[in-house]
Amino acid sequence: MKHVGRRRRQLTFMLIPDANRRIAQWKIPMIALYIVPCALVLAVAVASFAVYSRFQQIQVDRAAMENRLSLQINRLQQSQDEKKDRITELQNQLIDLSSQADQFKERLDRVKELESELGDIANTSDALSGLQLSALDGAGGQAAQEQIGGEALPVTERSVDLLADDTRNHFNQLSTELESSISNIATYEQIILEKQHQARITPSIWPTISHLITSRFGIRRDPFTSAPTFHSGLDIAGRQGDPVYATADGKVTFVGYDATHGNHILIDHSGGIVTHYMHLSRILVGKGDEVSKGDKIGLLGSTGRSTGPHVHYEVIKRNQPIDPTPFLKG
Ligand SMILES: [Zn+2]
Repeated sequence: MKHVGRRRRQLTFMLIPDANRRIAQWKIPMIALYIVPCALVLAVAVASFAVYSRFQQIQVDRAAMENRLSLQINRLQQSQDEKKDRITELQNQLIDLSSQADQFKERLDRVKELESELGDIANTSDALSGLQLSALDGAGGQAAQEQIGGEALPVTERSVDLLADDTRNHFNQLSTELESSISNIATYEQIILEKQHQARITPSIWPTISHLITSRFGIRRDPFTSAPTFHSGLDIAGRQGDPVYATADGKVTFVGYDATHGNHILIDHSGGIVTHYMHLSRILVGKGDEVSKGDKIGLLGSTGRSTGPHVHYEVIKRNQPIDPTPFLKG
């Protein structure tokens, strides 16, 4: 190797393989001596930078991935906590529901008592007696606040399932019982309403304020002729102008005057029952009027075939006069 020339400096590489063979030689410009190492250094630097950049990128990606995972774990944890809270809340609601079923049972027992009382009333001969139902006062509806305490043992899923089943069965049973009670009560209500209606259309009160019977139903000596005659009603003596009442709900079918009955009124109570009020000094209703038991329909007098102020009161059943006395109360 030697330097050749000043201007064009070169390096010459020679290869001498053997004495008899040709010498191989290469000339390389001197400048290559600087460029090649520089290029090598540059290449290494570029490669290092690339590796470093890639490494940095991997680090950043890893950090981001870790971040995402951490967020997801947090979210899962939070969701699990929320689910746990929700399960606890549901379990508590189930316990409340179970205790409500017990309270409901107490109220249902009260309804059954009332049902039984109603049944008794519906089955008595008089709908108006025994109507003194003890009021549904809500007694037993609120369970007393008990003093509770003791060890707090965690519940198992099995015990919660059992409680849920029990509660469901309890409510189903109560619901069935309630349906039955409602059906019975509706039946009793119909019976009682019918009995009340019957009571309203049955002549059962005195036709005036006086209760002084001067002539009963049946065969008697006629006050005018003294001959035995049939008296088809009750004579109740009173003061002139005393009120005369409708003895049951009904419809006025006749008002008028004749020499025998004087001013008189007929009321049809349906079911083949009619009442007849005679010898009135005044008539206060018109034909076709609907009247209620106890309504004032006229004033007591002595018109027609009468010896003094009284009301002749008749009850007619299927066109036959019957004795009103057994119906009269008090
Ligand atoms: Zn009479």
